[in-house]
Order: sequence, then C-alpha cells, then structure tokens
Amino acid sequence: MSLGSKLKESIVGSCETCNRTGWSEDGTPCSCLIKFRAFNRLTKGGFTLKTLELITCSEYEIPEIDEGGAFVDYFADNPLEVEERGLSLYIHSKGRGRGKTTLAQCLVYKAAWQFSHKEMYSTHRDYAFINIEDLIKKSRKGDESAWKSTWLVIDDLGNEDRSASWKKAAVVAILQQVMHYRRDRDLPTIITSNYAPNNLSAIYSGEIDSLLEIGPDGKISGMVIREVEVGGGEDFRQIEELSAWPF
Ligand SMILES: [Zn+2]
Repeated sequence: MSLGSKLKESIVGSCETCNRTGWSEDGTPCSCLIKFRAFNRLTKGGFTLKTLELITCSEYEIPEIDEGGAFVDYFADNPLEVEERGLSLYIHSKGRGRGKTTLAQCLVYKAAWQFSHKEMYSTHRDYAFINIEDLIKKSRKGDESAWKSTWLVIDDLGNEDRSASWKKAAVVAILQQVMHYRRDRDLPTIITSNYAPNNLSAIYSGEIDSLLEIGPDGKISGMVIREVEVGGGEDFRQIEELSAWPF
C-alpha cells in the first residue's frame, strides 16, 4: 500500500461523521477528506506526519508570541492574500524547543487545509519543508523542486555548519538564489531560526541583510518579510532565575 493510501486509511478510514466514505450526504467533501488532502500534500513536501498530528490535535496551542503576533494571525487567516502578495515570516526565539518549527508547520497546514477545499483547490500549488543544508544538497543535484515550491519553510537557519568560509559562502549563495526567485514570483516563505535577525546578520557579515530585509537597526521590517519572536519571555524569566546578580 502506498503512503498516500495508508494515510487516507488512517484519516478517512477512522471518520465516524461520514461513515468512512470521505463525503458528506450533500456531496461535499467531509472534513476528514480535506485533512487527508492537506496531510498528503504536505508530507510529500517534507513536512513530518508527527508534527502534523500534533498541530491538528485538540490540545495544540500556538506558542506564546512576544513580537509579531498580528503577522502570525494574518498568515493563519488569509492564506490566499499571503500567497498573492508573497508575504513572508522570519520566526525566531532565543532558545530551542519553543515551538518555532511547529508554528511554521502549523501556518502552512492552515493554508493547505483551506486550499484543500474545492473552491480554492489547485494542483499547481505545492509545499516544502527543508533546512538550508539539504536545500544546498538538492540544488547541487539539480533538484530545485523544494525552493521553487509555492510555499516554503526554511527550518533552523543559522544552525548549519559554518566552520569553513566556503560553507558560509554556499549558504549565502543559495539564499540569494532562493530569495530572489521567490520574491520575483511573490511566493511565501517562512524562515525559522534560533538567531535574532541582528545576530544572524553578524554571523553572515551582513551579506544576507538585504535578502532577509534586515534593517540597519537589526530588525526586519521590509517589503514582504516580517519578524516574529516566539516565547522570549520564558527565556527572560529563566535568565533572571539563573542570574548571580542581585538586581
Ligand atoms: Zn469523514
């Protein structure tokens, strides 16, 4: 059985609402079928089933957002406008495990879910989830499908191997290629990172500033990219607790 059929069996095959048919009595797709379509598209593009299951369970809540919450809401609620304008997000937090990657996948899932309804459905729309090192590897093999996809998540930027200057240069080069391509075509991109924009800028000696629309003040507020900071408050409390300073 193919992965798609297995997925369909587990999602549609367990739905009581439509009696496992995928269709409502009025001839419209049941919500299980729409969920399956979104899951199927996303897993083909590198999104993980585990994360998709997590963000679609009833207990999932989007992480605490310290900055840029309005951009997250706009992304979640207006995928068609996001796509038409090629709006993009840079989601960062000071530490690991604060839900950036999950949030990025959640936003794209919300888009894919809405696009899985008949009136918005298009076979031309695709999704990719990838880190920059894999993007470089694929690109070297001539596979540009990931970075040319309609929706792209570049996960964990800044965590790549930068030990040699040529490795850094390769990252800058692929980012240039990818971001120019996507900006020219108004394609939405979500980047996640453990680095605040000013820190990532310093790592790459300012070479990626214009690509990621990082301003002279170290903040992102450009034509299409907006900055989102996740759960910084938690870090702050932790720092206060661990601090040796009495004030
Ligand atoms: Zn159903």
